[in-house]
Amino acid sequence: MCEGGLASRPRGRRPTLLELNDDLVVIAVDVHPKQATVATVDLKGRLLSRSLVPLTSDPAASTRLMTDCMLRMRQSLPRKIFEGIGISLPGRIDPDTQRLIFAPNLHWPDLDLKKAIEETMDLPVKMENAATACLLAELTFKRIGGIRDIVLVTVSEGVGAGVFANGRLISGHRGMAGEFGHVTLDPTGIICSCGRRGCWETFASCRAALRYYRELQPPSRVIAFHDLLNLAEEGDPHAAAALAKQALYIGRGLQLIIAALSPSLIYVAGDITSAWHRFGAVIEKEAAKHMLGGALPRILPTHEGEIARLRGAAALVFQRRSAGDRPQGAGFASLLAE
Ligand SMILES: [Zn+2]
Repeated sequence: MCEGGLASRPRGRRPTLLELNDDLVVIAVDVHPKQATVATVDLKGRLLSRSLVPLTSDPAASTRLMTDCMLRMRQSLPRKIFEGIGISLPGRIDPDTQRLIFAPNLHWPDLDLKKAIEETMDLPVKMENAATACLLAELTFKRIGGIRDIVLVTVSEGVGAGVFANGRLISGHRGMAGEFGHVTLDPTGIICSCGRRGCWETFASCRAALRYYRELQPPSRVIAFHDLLNLAEEGDPHAAAALAKQALYIGRGLQLIIAALSPSLIYVAGDITSAWHRFGAVIEKEAAKHMLGGALPRILPTHEGEIARLRGAAALVFQRRSAGDRPQGAGFASLLAE
C-alpha cells in the first residue's frame, strides 16, 4: 500500500519520510461482546477518527456492520494511505491459520473473520488477542526502558493476559498462552462463559463486580460497570464493597501469574484503571501474599484502556513495516513473528 501511494504521487520532489509517515494510517478495531470501536490510527499512535459499532450474536451481520463503518471511515480520509486493518479481539487467534479459536464471551462460532474483512476492504488484516494487542501498544508507543518481563492483564467482560517474557511476546501452542482467566479458582463456583466452573474471571471480571453488587443490593434497574464506578464515587457503600471484592480477586489471580512468569512489571488495562485509587492498593496487598521470594512486581494501570487496545490493533499492522518507518519502541521488529 505504501509503495502504491508513493507511485501515485505527482512527479517532482520526492516526499520526505516524515511527510510519508504523516499520511500512513491503519484502521484499528477493538471488538467487545456487544460493540466494536473502529478507529483510524497514525504511525505515532494518534487516533484520527473513531466510531462505535453495535454487534450482535450473528457474526456475519456483525462483520458487515464493521466493514460498512470502515468503508465510511476510509472515504472520509481520502488523502491518507491505509496500510491495513488491525483487530483486537476478546479471544485467542491461531497464529498459523489466523482464525479465532477461543472467544467464550463473544459467542461467535468458528469464523474466518480475517478473510471476510480482507475480501470486502481489499486490505491486509492482522488479528490479535486484546491483552496481547494492549501489551504490544505499551511496548510500541511507550518507552519501557529495557524491561524484558511484563504481563498485561485486561479486566473487562472477561479477564485476559498478554505475556512478554525474556524480551519476547509469547503466543504458545496454537496461540493459547496467557489464558489465566480460565484457570479454576473454585471447582464448585459459578459457571463460566467457557463452560467450566469457578474460573478466575468469574471472580475478577467487571461482570463479577456487578454480581457482587446485586448480591448486596438488588438494583431497581440494570446497571453497567461504569454505573457501578459512579455509584462508588457517590458514596454507595455496596458499590464500593463490590469493587473492593473484585480488586481482591484480581490480586489473588495475579499470584498465579507471578508464580508462573515472575514479571518485573504487571500492567492492568480496562475500565477499572479510571478508579485505580480504589483498586491499586487492594490488588497489590493481595498479590503480595504468598510471594515465593524476591520483590513484588510493579503493578501499574495503563490509564488508557480502550485507546491502548486500539493502538495495539494499529501496532499489529505497523510492526510489519521496514525498520526506518516503524514507530519508536523497544525491539519493535522482533516482537511478533511475521
Ligand atoms: Zn472459564
